[in-house]
Amino acid sequence: MRRLVVVGGVAGGASAAAKAKRTDPGLEVVVYEKSGYVSYGACGLPYFLSGEIPRLEALVARTPEEFRKQGVEVHTRHEVVDVNYEDRVLTVFDHENRRTFQDRFDLLVLATGARPLVPSLPGTEQEGIYTLRSMEDGARIKEALEGARRTAILGAGYIGLEVAEAFRKLGKEVTLLEAKDRPLPQADPEVSALVKQELEAHGVEVWTGVRATALRGAGRVEGVETDAGFVPADLVLLAVGIRPNTALAQAMGVALGPTGAIATDERMRTNLEGVFAAGDVAESRHLVLERPYWLPLGDVANKHGRTAGSVIGKEEARFRGVVGTAIFKAFGLAVATTGLSLEAALKEGFRAKAVQIQSRDGAHYYPGTHPLHVRLVYEEGTGRLLGGAVVGHMNAALRIKVLAALLHQKGTVEDLLALDLAYAPPFSPVWDPLLVAAQQVK
Ligand code: FAD
Ligand code: NAD
Repeated sequence: MRRLVVVGGVAGGASAAAKAKRTDPGLEVVVYEKSGYVSYGACGLPYFLSGEIPRLEALVARTPEEFRKQGVEVHTRHEVVDVNYEDRVLTVFDHENRRTFQDRFDLLVLATGARPLVPSLPGTEQEGIYTLRSMEDGARIKEALEGARRTAILGAGYIGLEVAEAFRKLGKEVTLLEAKDRPLPQADPEVSALVKQELEAHGVEVWTGVRATALRGAGRVEGVETDAGFVPADLVLLAVGIRPNTALAQAMGVALGPTGAIATDERMRTNLEGVFAAGDVAESRHLVLERPYWLPLGDVANKHGRTAGSVIGKEEARFRGVVGTAIFKAFGLAVATTGLSLEAALKEGFRAKAVQIQSRDGAHYYPGTHPLHVRLVYEEGTGRLLGGAVVGHMNAALRIKVLAALLHQKGTVEDLLALDLAYAPPFSPVWDPLLVAAQQVK
C-alpha cells in the first residue's frame, strides 16, 4: 500500500490529506501536526478575540476523530524533526509522551505553514507580549485580555488591523504602531487614508513612521519604547509579518524559489520526486507579474492542498496561480485589493496609471446605502488592467471579484466597460461604481 505522510495539518495539510484519501481510497494517509489542533480557520481568530465567535473550537472544520472516520490517521502534538529522503524515513517527536520514533513514507506533503516574525528588540521575551497564528495563541491572548486595559499593536498589516477592531470592541485602548508611513502600506496611499480615517473614527490611536526600540518592563511588559515616545501597554501584540517554515524542507534537499518559500510546479510538486508542498510554506505563480510569488493566504493554501491531494490520487489537477486578491474588514470598512497597487506596478517597470472614484453601493434615493470607493490600476497605452481596490461597506467590496476575474483573463479597462453587471436600487447605482471608475480612464 502506498503511504502518504502530510507534515502540518491546518489549511494546506488538511486539504491535501482529505483530498488524497477521497481520490485514492487505497492510499494510507497519515498527518503529523505539531500543535494541538488540525483543520481550523486561523482567519477566524480575530473574531474569537472580539467575542463575536464565543468558542475557539467553533473554528475547527474537521476534528482528528472525523479525519479517522474518513480513513485519515491524524497525530496532533507530533512534530516531524527530520526527513531522510534517500531512505524515505522520517523522525517524529511526540510532545505528549516525550518520545521519538520513526515512520516511513512513499509520498510526502510539506504543509508546515509560516510563523510570525518577532522583531529583534530588547524585552520581547517578557510576559504580556504575543503573536497571533495558532489556536493556542488565540486562547492565550483571549485570557490575557481580561486583565488588560491598554494595548499596543506593532504592525498595521492585516493582523494588526483586524485585531485593532477586536480589541476596541472589547473596550480596550489601542495604539497601532506602524513602521512605514501609513497603515496597510502594501496598498496605495489613497486606500490607506480611508483605512486610517476609519481607525481613528473608532478610537484607535495610529502612529505611523515610528520605530520601536524596546519593550519596557521588568518581566511583565509595561509598554513600547519608540523613537516618537513611550506607549504604555499591559498587552502587546507583535504583528509585523510572517516567514515560511522551510527549515525541514531545506534540510532534506527541497529547493526554495526566489521568494524564499518552497518552489513548486502547477501540480504542487517540488524538485524531489514524490515530495509536494502546499500552503503558506509554498510559492505560487503570479499571473500578472508572470513569476513566482509568495501569497500566504487561507484560500490559496486550501487550493494548493487540494491540488496536491488530487495529483497524489492520480487525478488531473493544476493550480494555475494567483493574481493577489485579498479582503479584510476594519470596523465598518471592507477593504478589498487585487493585482498590483500603483506603487508596486511602477516599481515593477509597468507604465502604470491609476484612477479612483467615490460612488455609492446603491441608488442615490435608496435608504441606507454607503459610500463605495473604486480604484483601478492600468497600463498606459494598452489599457491592460494591472490591479484595483474596492473599499466600502461589507459585501459591496466583493465587487473586487470582477476585477480579479479580469486579471486572470489579462483583461483591459475596455473589457471592464463592456461587462453586463447586476443592477437594482438596493445593490448599485444604475452605473455600477466599477464602470464609473473605468469611464474615468482616458
Ligand atoms: P499554517 O496555518 O501555518 O499551518 C501549518 C501547520 O504546520 C502549523 O499548525 C504547524 O504547527 C505545523 N507544523 C509546522 N512544522 C511542523 C513539523 N515539523 N511537524 C509537524 N507539524 C508542523 N487568510 C485569508 O485568506 N483570509 C483571511 O481572512 C485570513 N485571516 C487570517 C487571520 C489570522 C489571525 C491569521 C494568523 C491568518 C489569517 N489568514 C487569512 C492566513 C491563513 O490563516 C493562512 O494562509 C493559512 O492558515 C495557511 O495554512 P497552512 O496550512 O499553509 O499553514
Ligand atoms: P503583514 O505583512 O500584513 O503586515 C505586517 C506589517 O507590519 C506591515 O505593515 C509592516 O510594514 C509592519 N512592520 C514590520 N516591521 C515592523 C516594526 N518593527 N514595527 C512596526 N511595524 C512593522 O503581516 P501580518 O499582519 O503579521 O499578517 C500575516 C499574514 O497573515 C499576512 O501576510 C496575511 O497573509 C495573513 N492574514 C490575512 C488576512 C486577510 O486576508 N484578511 C487577515 C489576517 C492575516
